[in-house]
Amino acid sequence: MVPSQASGSAEDPDGLEDRLRRFATIWSRAVFPSAATSLTRPEFEKLLLPLARELNLALHARHFDNAPAQRVGTALVTLHCTDPEALARTLGVVDSYLVLYCGTEELGAEEGRARCARLQHALAGGFAQALRERTLAEQEAIARSALSARSSAEEALHATQARFLAVFEGAAIGIVIADLEGNVLEVNDTLTKMFGGLEHHVRSRNVNQWVHPEDRPQVWRLHGELVRGEREHFRAEKPFYRNDGTVLWTNLTFSLLRDAEGQPQYQLALLEDTTERRLLNLRLRYEATHDALTGLPNRTLFFERLDKTLAAPDNARFGLCYLDLDGFKAINDSLGHSSGDRLLVEVADRLQSCATAPGEMVARLGGDEFVALTTGPDTQTEVADLASRILGALATPIRLDGREFTVRGSIGVVEGLAAEHTAAAVLRSADITMYRAKAAGGNRFELADPEADARAITRHGLTTALPAALERDEFFIEYQPLVRLDDATVHGAEALVRWHHPQHGVLAPDRFIALAERTGLIVPLGRWVLEQSVRQAMLWQDDRPEGAAPGLLTVNVNLSPTQLHHPGLVADTVDILERVGLPPGALCLEVTESALIGADEDLLKPLRQLAEMGVEIALDDFGTGYSNLANLRRLPVSVLKLDRSFTQGMQQHPADEVDLKIVEGIVSLAHSLDLAVTVEGVETGAQADHLRRLGCDTAQGWYYARPGPPSQLHRLLLVDAV
Ligand code: C2E
Ligand code: CA
Ligand code: CA
Repeated sequence: MVPSQASGSAEDPDGLEDRLRRFATIWSRAVFPSAATSLTRPEFEKLLLPLARELNLALHARHFDNAPAQRVGTALVTLHCTDPEALARTLGVVDSYLVLYCGTEELGAEEGRARCARLQHALAGGFAQALRERTLAEQEAIARSALSARSSAEEALHATQARFLAVFEGAAIGIVIADLEGNVLEVNDTLTKMFGGLEHHVRSRNVNQWVHPEDRPQVWRLHGELVRGEREHFRAEKPFYRNDGTVLWTNLTFSLLRDAEGQPQYQLALLEDTTERRLLNLRLRYEATHDALTGLPNRTLFFERLDKTLAAPDNARFGLCYLDLDGFKAINDSLGHSSGDRLLVEVADRLQSCATAPGEMVARLGGDEFVALTTGPDTQTEVADLASRILGALATPIRLDGREFTVRGSIGVVEGLAAEHTAAAVLRSADITMYRAKAAGGNRFELADPEADARAITRHGLTTALPAALERDEFFIEYQPLVRLDDATVHGAEALVRWHHPQHGVLAPDRFIALAERTGLIVPLGRWVLEQSVRQAMLWQDDRPEGAAPGLLTVNVNLSPTQLHHPGLVADTVDILERVGLPPGALCLEVTESALIGADEDLLKPLRQLAEMGVEIALDDFGTGYSNLANLRRLPVSVLKLDRSFTQGMQQHPADEVDLKIVEGIVSLAHSLDLAVTVEGVETGAQADHLRRLGCDTAQGWYYARPGPPSQLHRLLLVDAV
């Protein structure tokens, strides 16, 4: 990408200095012809080199800053490049060559372009500012000599008048002298040229007729004060009509000239032509704040507007729609980028037509992301209307190359009191909400919900922290006892993993298991839980108190769907059991009913192998899925774990008859298939009684024990033994 990257030397390993020198050469060639300097071009180029270095640093600065580029603009004026042409050419060179010669991979193409545009803007600003200051200094000198011409009239009338005339005629700015009624007495050539070249035209017009619709109201008030002798001078930015009707923009300075007695006598106007600079500034401002493809306001302008909106006083409200097209990437990939671009342009037009009321704006943030902002008095209802309008506007298919495309979008909507929000927080919330709309199927809008946001933010944080957590040993396991219903002795325990998060404290598995599933971390995490649990079961076996009931204590370990699909499942499990020396019958793997719905023989095979070795397989959360009871026959399971919801039905007095009937039915079916039945979530003695009478085999729940450290089980075994 960089033309001379290869030319690096020992002192300049990446050739940067070389590249900057070439940039300075191109720059000096472009600008030198319009520079009013006595230097030679090579001398001039030497002076541009440090400015090129400064631009390069600004391009790569960690935090973008306008100041260096402004300094470069100022330096140009100091180097006598005061002609607007010099600025225009400088901007052209920066635009075409800066990123080309100084860009790097880290900077990236898009960021490079964005920064380059902002650099140009800042450079032009610095240039205009410096030029204005310089012109004002020049104007002051002229006003001073005009005044001294008047005051020293007596002693050296001729000499001063000659000097005054020389300044008057040679000045680079337009000068008008008029009487207090506004009749023009003298104009210099520069002024005549500025107005289009017809001197009589300028002379014949009274100063009081120099009105333009865009005049600031205070201009004519200040002028009135001046001719009445109430003020000595004033400055203003003011437009005029040229003779041909076009507009001339100026920096205008009016001064009052008094006679020897101090009475107001003449008015003196100095005009600096700023038309071109102004146009250039407008153009630069436009380019810096609008998206080149769609012409919509860009990110920069949008954030300016959003900041302004949020800074509004009192009870001002705002509403924001953050739109991301659904599946745009696929369209773009299949159509090619130029058609993709045309599609975006069409989308932009439609969005624009949705937000035409005062206080509404649409902007493109980049790619296929757009925003619409509304600031009316009634944003609470407005913003939902706006979102619906946008979805409606997208509904009509877009025709491209004779084909029709349906573009849909997902919108995150944020609405609220301006005073309570920052721009960054609004955007983050809108972004999260937009993803929620996408996750819900897209082609819809969702309203921001601070609680959902907080959850999503921690979810994101947790996802990134997960992999390191396993290495840092932040997980631990609690065991919840499983109790035989007939004699209330301990049958075993279920291993339940927890995460001791350094910031959030102990997190329950529902906060992170699904994340671990999605990121794949569940496989190493699950293997770790399995190994820990198997070791723990072995310890319980060895520590079995004397007199405890005979038979193995089982440890139940949960398996997630991803683990079920993992090819290493059987080998890992066998390996762990063998290394620890635990009999397979002391391990029960819990698989949820939903993970096995529709499972084919390939998926069941590992479970079947484990079952054949003697490992128990439990069907967890049974009754929550839609499994076909007849299907149970072909599954390699030996235990049904009835979901907590059934137990909850028994909480009521009298117990829910239907639940009782269902549980009774399930128990008898399970027993007829040779399956044991475990119930979860037993919280009261009454529930335990019911479940025992219904024939359930084992139970788990707070009534017996909450999940706790492994020592809890040992204590319970001791109680059993007594
Ligand atoms: P689960 O397998 O259904 O586990 C039972 C859940 O019920 C546990 O929640 C337990 O603390 C809770 N519980 C136990 N007795 C009662 C009771 O009497 N009343 C009530 N209301 N709740 C009770 P926990 O520990 O938050 O675990 C939630 C889920 O996380 C588990 O549901 C399991 O699906 C999953 N999980 C836990 N550990 C692991 C693991 O190591 N691997 C995998 N893949 N999943 C795990
Ligand atoms: Ca379980
Ligand atoms: Ca369960």
